[in-house]
Amino acid sequence: MTAPLLLAPLPKHVVEACDLSLAQATKVAEAIVDATGLADAFEFSLNARTGAPRRVSWRTLLTVFVTAGIRGGDMLLTLVQKTAAEMLRDGLLPAKVSYCQLWDNLDHFSTAMDADHVVSAHNHDLVASTKTGEVEDCPTGCTGGRPITRELFAALLLHASSFPGGMTINTTVFALDSTDKETWAARQSWDKLPDIDQSAGAVRPEDEGEKVNSQDTFRTPGWPRLGYDGRAQHTVDLDAREGYRSGKNMRRKEVYIGFDEHIVTQVPEFGAGEIPHTALSLVTAPAGSDKAAAGILAVEALRAVGYDVQELLSDRGYTYLDAGKWANALRARDITQTFDLHKNQRGVRPGPIMGSIWVDGTLFTDAMPKHLRELPGFKLGLSTAEIIKLQGKYDQRIPYAFAPFGDVNTDRGTQRWRGPALRRLVRCVNDPESMRLGYDRPTTTCKPASVDPVTGKRVVPCGCSRTVTVSLDEYARERQPLQFGTTIWHASYGRRSAIEALNSELRTHRGMNFRRDWCRVRGAARTHALVTFGLVGVNVRMLRDWYTTRGQADPWMVAIGDTTDPDFAAVHARRTAQPRGTSLHVRVTTGDIPRRTEPRARYPFVPRHLRPKHLRQTDIGGTVHDTEGHAPPHQPG
Ligand SMILES: [Zn+2]
Ligand SMILES: [Zn+2]
Repeated sequence: MTAPLLLAPLPKHVVEACDLSLAQATKVAEAIVDATGLADAFEFSLNARTGAPRRVSWRTLLTVFVTAGIRGGDMLLTLVQKTAAEMLRDGLLPAKVSYCQLWDNLDHFSTAMDADHVVSAHNHDLVASTKTGEVEDCPTGCTGGRPITRELFAALLLHASSFPGGMTINTTVFALDSTDKETWAARQSWDKLPDIDQSAGAVRPEDEGEKVNSQDTFRTPGWPRLGYDGRAQHTVDLDAREGYRSGKNMRRKEVYIGFDEHIVTQVPEFGAGEIPHTALSLVTAPAGSDKAAAGILAVEALRAVGYDVQELLSDRGYTYLDAGKWANALRARDITQTFDLHKNQRGVRPGPIMGSIWVDGTLFTDAMPKHLRELPGFKLGLSTAEIIKLQGKYDQRIPYAFAPFGDVNTDRGTQRWRGPALRRLVRCVNDPESMRLGYDRPTTTCKPASVDPVTGKRVVPCGCSRTVTVSLDEYARERQPLQFGTTIWHASYGRRSAIEALNSELRTHRGMNFRRDWCRVRGAARTHALVTFGLVGVNVRMLRDWYTTRGQADPWMVAIGDTTDPDFAAVHARRTAQPRGTSLHVRVTTGDIPRRTEPRARYPFVPRHLRPKHLRQTDIGGTVHDTEGHAPPHQPG
């Protein structure tokens, strides 16, 4: 009999604590390790062909690390070894695993992955041709020889822990954010102003007038050293650098020395039901390094594991970087974004043709009323009523916007856009057909077209009824498919809170506090490996809580064939729970926005591709129009 594992305290609403026994945790860990194929890859790539055989297999070692992760708490090798000893005592391990074996092998595989020495295993014997001496080609279906980077290592383990026993991925939308992990190594020097990498356009908060908590510069003899990347190295940790971490709980931004952990989670499709937000991809980079490069690595790792990434939600730490590093890099991968704009990205700029203007990253006709052009931002501290009112103002811009029309011209990097009168959203005197539309469309105050007395040509003074070819690079950093500030934009961007919730969950409830001494290793590679094991454990525990608090069986227990759990539906039957709120992105698609009290405008439009499948064919409740359809929108009454 083993005692239940003591895990970090759970939020009050969780009735049953996650109380996996050591035997259950070990079984889950084995299933995760086997699903990744990592043990075979290490076996194939790292084992010496000569000399004494290994005492402990890679599968056993990885299982011990993952079990320790599932158990939770600090990821210290002494504690991992303690878990291994308990597993041996309970007959769950084939052989003893010592502290030295854990340390040496962690070092071995993490260093080897960084040096590109690890590839996936072949499912057949490798045969050398007797004629050429070259290894013969793989039979079809073999995935051997694929390089396993440390990002792919993390993505494989995180994917395996999030989708037990053949569960399927059913989203194409993901949220990305980074959180800080301080290095364990002691600081030998300090710079009040961190030397962050500004090659991608990152800006130091001090340079924008923001106040940051940072101690005064100090030096000990011989420090800082010059790091391999040209930045200052303040500790014996070769990879740790100085950077900023965002302030929490009303605190200012702070300077720290260590790593940025870039984490990706899944969020629902627009209008779809809730899904558990587990960690799916992890990139460990020196603090203050190029966030765009790390974010792209995280997305590539997701794709390598088989996710269909179509939309990414991330904060200004990424989206404010140079278009060439972030916006265009995502566009090249066919990934769209919904994001918040920095104050420098906002404002009115001239459009590509006369009569058009760029406002907050969207192309409008200049018939848009002046009072809608410079709207205030959504500051912290606004009440719900004020936010709704402001959203309503942004929604009033919707009928004046141009919209892409037809496919992208990939040769020239351009796309055609149609003006709002052609889209049948406004009535403009310069488009006689639009004047026959109903009066629920705004009527513009455009001057009628005139004839130039010199050239004799007809001059149309507004952009309402024009088609324009726009370069994809024009304001690429500011552009997004949904118009900034509108209700539907809020509904979409609001899903990003999932990654913030995950990060705070990790740090406050799940025992991964990322304090300096959460793990005591040096270097990005080893830290990355241990953080991965920790996140794998958090995924297993969160999935269990997510399903059990919804009265369903823990999918991991189902996957390993364990039937000792009670029927959670019965256990929680008498529980009185607060009714769950519905997300804005769901309410917008069903036309149910109960928090609105005043009569609602006919906007926002929900583009057809964002509607739930069963509502795609019809108009919803007479309140939602299709902005992409070629036919004039349905007019109720
Ligand atoms: Zn092969
Ligand atoms: Zn006009």
